[in-house]
Amino acid sequence: MQQLQNYINGELISPLSSEWIDNFDPSKGEVYSQIPRSKKEDIELAFDAAKKALPVWSNTTLEERSKVLLKIANLLQQKLVDFAKAESKDNGKPLALALNIDIPRAVSNFEFYAHALTQFGSEAHESVGKNTINFTLRKPIGVVGCISPWNLPLYLFSWKIAPALAAGNCVVAKPSEITPMTAYLLSEICIEAGLPKGVLNIVHGLGNEVGQAIVEHPQIKAISFTGGTKTGEHLARTAAPMFKKLSLELGGKNPNLIFADCDYEQMLKTTVKSSFANQGQICLCGSRIFVEESIYEKFKIDFIAETKKLKVGIPSEASSDLGAVVSEAHIQKILGYIDQAEKQDAKILTGGKRVEVKDHENGYYLEPTIIEVKSNRCQLNQEEIFGPVVTIMPFKTEEQALEMANDVRYGLSATVWTSNLDRAMRLSNTLEAGIIWVNTWLNRDLRTPFGGTKDSGVGREGGFEALRFFTEPKNVCIQYKN
Ligand code: NAD
Repeated sequence: MQQLQNYINGELISPLSSEWIDNFDPSKGEVYSQIPRSKKEDIELAFDAAKKALPVWSNTTLEERSKVLLKIANLLQQKLVDFAKAESKDNGKPLALALNIDIPRAVSNFEFYAHALTQFGSEAHESVGKNTINFTLRKPIGVVGCISPWNLPLYLFSWKIAPALAAGNCVVAKPSEITPMTAYLLSEICIEAGLPKGVLNIVHGLGNEVGQAIVEHPQIKAISFTGGTKTGEHLARTAAPMFKKLSLELGGKNPNLIFADCDYEQMLKTTVKSSFANQGQICLCGSRIFVEESIYEKFKIDFIAETKKLKVGIPSEASSDLGAVVSEAHIQKILGYIDQAEKQDAKILTGGKRVEVKDHENGYYLEPTIIEVKSNRCQLNQEEIFGPVVTIMPFKTEEQALEMANDVRYGLSATVWTSNLDRAMRLSNTLEAGIIWVNTWLNRDLRTPFGGTKDSGVGREGGFEALRFFTEPKNVCIQYKN
């Protein structure tokens, strides 16, 4: 059985403990490879390598840094199909999604920051009349930590690593232990691309062991984390007393507000995607759907009909709209929420059951599920389920829709469907979320700030925001004589 390796100091090596963790293929529910169960000692090795590489990497010219990031992007592009197959097998997502979204976006992340680093500037402030000029130096932070989740494995891993490296830092990174494969394959690409040894170190293992060791490390000065809100809270508690810089991209329970004046066909098509793409395991999925009363019954019928057309099947087959969810533990968690529907005075309109796929009977397949709820305060509307499950309920007025949309601890994204520009602007101003989509969904321009408010996180990724996060600003104040 294949054993993945850590990538430390430019080399692929086994964990010091020689302990391994099973890695599952969710489409079959079978172990198909093993990953290092790394520990604190492996993080020490990775940190030492990163620290040694830092003086050279942080002084490498912008052009050189840019070139090597572009080389990584090019190699990834050349191997796109292999990476997409690996991502689909490791995560359970449809191959088409990995081919069209996950891996192309990972390529774009490296390309984007290869270019962005050459355009990144800092400010100068002239104190007029005082013969004084201030300017801001933006220096790399040093050795930084990047920790990512399983839902968009390489997409989110590279979204952190690329800006961290672009800004001149050396990195100790940990992908999710549930989806480690493409991060491992990326190590091979980094070696081929000639990334100097120690600049990037990828250490595999469990969150509470290897992830914790990164966060606790006194000399790893910044942590960029994407994952669950509970883990984020724990991370913040650990890192705050050491005054680490933290970027936390956490959970969501995003509202999808549908008004009667919207482009109905476009809305319906997109709402099916924003509900069930990647088996609903995208932090930006619109899992709470609120529909204006006058079109509620029509929407309900059409949405159920469209959802029933979706095929749940083997991820590698082109006909599969939904693949497998990521793990047995996760499918059990989702089913646990579905089971509570009745107790919460909610009604399952379609779905709700495990799907048995021929020749893949042990895979983690679940029907796309729509639940009609009576109140936004019910648990199904307040807690992140993170699976192919959405709730729907009607609203009477814009004010009521806004109130329900904001009545939740999370604030990652919100979607609004309306042709009324005034309403679109009013809601963009008042919805409590870091990202508002109007008449669209998952429409991303990598220059824009990305992140959440409330319990969905702290800080922003994307564009120059990420380069600001991964640099320390230093004010230089010079007084001169006339
Ligand atoms: P998770 O919090 O369980 O794990 C995320 C990462 O943190 C993994 O690599 C894990 O090993 C690591 N980790 C766990 N415990 C740790 C610890 N004590 N110290 C350091 N690292 C630790 O999240 P998950 O289940 O992998 O991902 C799903 C969650 O991620 C959902 O809540 C989803 O909304 C969120 N998410 C958010 C965004 C966003 O941009 N806001 C994007 C994708 C996913």
